[in-house]
Amino acid sequence: MVLKRTPLIAGNWKMNLDHLQSIAFVQKLAWSLEDAKHDFDSVEVAIFPPFTDLRSVQTLVAADKLSLAYGGQDVSAHDSGAYTGEISGQFLAQLDAKYVLIGHSERRTMHGESDEIVAAKVNAAIKHGLVPVICVGETAEDLEKHGQSAVPVAQLKVALEGLKADADVVVAYEPVWAIGSGQAATPEQAETVGAALRAVVAESLSADAAAATRILYGGSVKSGNIAGFMREPNVDGALVGGASLDIAEFAAIVRYQK
Ligand code: PGA
Repeated sequence: MVLKRTPLIAGNWKMNLDHLQSIAFVQKLAWSLEDAKHDFDSVEVAIFPPFTDLRSVQTLVAADKLSLAYGGQDVSAHDSGAYTGEISGQFLAQLDAKYVLIGHSERRTMHGESDEIVAAKVNAAIKHGLVPVICVGETAEDLEKHGQSAVPVAQLKVALEGLKADADVVVAYEPVWAIGSGQAATPEQAETVGAALRAVVAESLSADAAAATRILYGGSVKSGNIAGFMREPNVDGALVGGASLDIAEFAAIVRYQK
């Protein structure tokens, strides 16, 4: 049985937009999608603002009953305690966050997050009822040395270790060389790795989980290239960085079918 997967278009704001800017941005984005009569059942939209914006976003989404999911850009592997600077999954869940990004390449490279730390964070997210968006991807050097799928496949295997067969996760394939470079992977490359990652979900979790799990492509996604990715059977959405900060551009990515 092939389950229908609802595509997910997610905006990773990184360290951009403070809490006041986030309010104006979310309002304008909601108007823009409303004007276009966007059907949120056909394509889910999520944003990942900085932590300090989340309370404002929660208030706005609740007050205006917006069909907009949101989440943190990272989460602690711990529940609470002496972990200066960290944010617990419990705190994110209390703000009605649905998702959390885990293992983004910027955290892996700039903050030394190993595959084991990523796995611990995935467990913490699930424990607190959040859906982890597990980011994997190869560097240009990995690509040259090991080909395209080996590193993301190895990263995902560790991230999924020990999870229940029906764990609810999202996987984001983001080749590091494509992030912020303007040089996106081709849809064929995204499909090849997407299929390999789905096979890992089947092996590590279950066939049902593999059929239900959304695999996103990320790395220089724009309104001009989104449709090509979305035509691939193993690409179920996109994780958008730079282009998610431009409302018209992000809205155009969300409406890729039109
Ligand atoms: P980009 O970033 O769209 O700016 O390439 C993607 C990401 O880092 O998630």
